[in-house]
Amino acid sequence: MTIISHFIDGQQVHAEGTRQADVFNPARGEPCAKVALAEPREVDAAVAAALAAFPAWAATPPLARARVLFKYLQLCQQHTGEFAALVTREHGKTLADAQGEVARGIEIVEFAVGIPHMLKGEFTDQIARGIDAWSMRQPLGVVAGITPFNFPVMVPMWMFPVAIACGNTFVLKPSERDPSASLLHARLLKEAGLPDGVFNVVQGDKVAVDALLDHPDVQALSFVGSTPIAEYIYARGSATGKRVQALGGAKNHMVVMPDADMDMAVDALIGAAYGSAGERCMAISVAVAIGDAGDRMVAALAERTARLKIDDGTVDGAEMGPVITGAAKERIERLIGQGVEQGATLVVDGRGHQVEGCPNGFFVGGTLFDHVTPNMSIYQEEIFGPVLCVVRLPDVGSAVELINANEYGNGVAIFTRDGGVAREFVRQIEVGMVGVNVPLPVPMAFNSFGGWKRSLFGDHHAYGPEGVRFYTRHKAVMERWPNTASSGPEFAFPQMK
Ligand code: NAD
Repeated sequence: MTIISHFIDGQQVHAEGTRQADVFNPARGEPCAKVALAEPREVDAAVAAALAAFPAWAATPPLARARVLFKYLQLCQQHTGEFAALVTREHGKTLADAQGEVARGIEIVEFAVGIPHMLKGEFTDQIARGIDAWSMRQPLGVVAGITPFNFPVMVPMWMFPVAIACGNTFVLKPSERDPSASLLHARLLKEAGLPDGVFNVVQGDKVAVDALLDHPDVQALSFVGSTPIAEYIYARGSATGKRVQALGGAKNHMVVMPDADMDMAVDALIGAAYGSAGERCMAISVAVAIGDAGDRMVAALAERTARLKIDDGTVDGAEMGPVITGAAKERIERLIGQGVEQGATLVVDGRGHQVEGCPNGFFVGGTLFDHVTPNMSIYQEEIFGPVLCVVRLPDVGSAVELINANEYGNGVAIFTRDGGVAREFVRQIEVGMVGVNVPLPVPMAFNSFGGWKRSLFGDHHAYGPEGVRFYTRHKAVMERWPNTASSGPEFAFPQMK
């Protein structure tokens, strides 16, 4: 069986350690490869390669760096099918969904090729007589990215194209559940002409993550994953003086007002709740029906949920694939059971779902609950599966109150025809990304992505201008030429003269 290993200093390397994990094809429920789990000394080797490559890469003109990424962008476009096939095999999402993921990742590279423009500093002439002030942004050094299973191509691309374009060198620790895409990134970057050591991959688990967290030569860490781990990464990484952005989990609500276009709202909910089997940090997992929207919405959702086309993601016309592991399936089905025990109305039950030809696949059918209340575990926990909970409320004010009280603040949406209601909702809601008649408000590459509250620890959102700020340091320079006639030292704090 293939052993997926590390990529260090421009080479695929055999793992030194003996620890390995199975990588599954979730539709088949069978292992399709093994992944090496790095030991700290392998992390050290990757960081050492990145550190050695840093001075030359940082000194490379920004436009020359961008040209390497431009070539990589073209290679990604040529290899979209290969990326998507890897994602479907190891993650399980449908091929169409995987292609969408690759396309959204490529957009970050399109942004990154323009980064020379964003590295420009500011200049102020004559801040005092004969003195000018200017600023510049410089790369940090070796930076690392730790990424989740649910977007094995795109989420790493939120990080390394921006980091590398800014002049940093990079160590990626991808999810051990679907690690193959990371090596395709490495291969294509090398083919594009990226110098050895600028981009490295260490496969692994907590051991590799902890080695990166504590490594004195790692200057910054970008993390995307679940909230408990994000919080841990933020606390431990900052304690060792690193710059950290740690994006966590979510519980995203979509408010449906009685005046909403109900067909449009139901279509949006079906796609946003069940697309990728609900394994998206921007998935809608709570539909908040206002007033008399509830009965119409639940009737339409029930009919659509029951006829979702669930299959191996490689099958034409499949709308939803399996979840990532057998353990994830068990956890989701257990939570569905708790929803029933705690009094929610189970309208469509996805437990025990079988797909023809895939008897061992990790499938959970689309599940719909009505009359969910905030004290239930299906409301409180991030289920990260194809389970949609309907909460019924009398007015938009109570919806804002409910959402603002939630510990997460990643994404939210409102569906309405009333511009005034939507505007006030946008202003009052304590969530980082808001959609108005848009169910998945994922910002484009030239904006930035990030939630509020326990959906993001740190100050910077991912990619876009915030990504450039995260991966660079600002330097202020005050300059005087020439200074021939010194009037002696000054002991008072400098002021304009
Ligand atoms: P996860 O937190 O289990 O794993 C993420 C990464 O952390 C992986 O690389 C994993 O190897 C590592 N890791 C896991 N346990 C660790 C530990 N104890 N110590 C150190 N490192 C550890 O997340 P996941 O299951 O891979 O991904 C799903 C989660 O990611 C969901 O909660 C989802 O909402 C979240 N997510 C958030 C965003 C966002 O932008 N906010 C985007 C995608 C996914």
